[in-house]
Amino acid sequence: MSTVNVTIWNEYLHEVQEPEIGAVYPTGIHGALAEGLAPNADFTIRTATLGEPDHGLSPEVLATTDVMLWWGHMGHHLVDNKIVEQVHQQVLSGMGLIALHSAHYSKIFRRLMGTNCSLLWREANEKERLWVLEPGHPIMDGVPPYVELEAEEMYGERFDVPTPDELLMVSWFQGGEVFRSCATWRRGHGRVVYLRPGHEEYPTYRNEHILRIIANACRWAARRVDQSTQHAANVEALEWVPGASARAQAAADAGSESVGQ
Ligand code: ZN
Repeated sequence: MSTVNVTIWNEYLHEVQEPEIGAVYPTGIHGALAEGLAPNADFTIRTATLGEPDHGLSPEVLATTDVMLWWGHMGHHLVDNKIVEQVHQQVLSGMGLIALHSAHYSKIFRRLMGTNCSLLWREANEKERLWVLEPGHPIMDGVPPYVELEAEEMYGERFDVPTPDELLMVSWFQGGEVFRSCATWRRGHGRVVYLRPGHEEYPTYRNEHILRIIANACRWAARRVDQSTQHAANVEALEWVPGASARAQAAADAGSESVGQ
């Protein structure tokens, strides 16, 4: 079994600023996720938070991350655009990214989606039932036909994202709304997963089924290649080709390298 290098990123603001949230997650949401994923022997787990230099995402950390979990809410605007650009390029090069709950509004997720990622929401201690649509998908491995969370924040459609490549779960809420709660997209060489549950007021990240889905998603989205897509190369033909265009020949004669890009 190959090792998966998992980096858990959390803004880590609610837990330190609000005692009632700190009581739910004493070691932070990142700490709870690290503890919950620790039994997966094939994972090497690191955590990173907003307040660290480079938000804990130095070039070295990014280069050695196979899949990144992202939890953010009140501090989306505090995330440095330079770091967002670096994470984006890592995804396009092959790193996996799993956006959790309110990360639907994070800079990195919105950038990857290219849409506003808005939705309906309500905080009313509602029951959520997540139904599995694709039991054969690796991310749904070992997950029962539905997962019930006694209390969660409601997210409702329409979720303003591009049509997912794969829709794996749909949520029902007590108040009547439904939501596409687990979905995947390919971006460049990278795999992106969105998983809805995980409002900071509830111990959702201690639920065995939610942890199972996250662990499965880490393996599924983990980097398979590390190949930058930033530059277009002007290459020689492998075999003789009958004549370049007059324009290309003129440019080549003039010493230009920019033709054809
Ligand atoms: Zn929330």
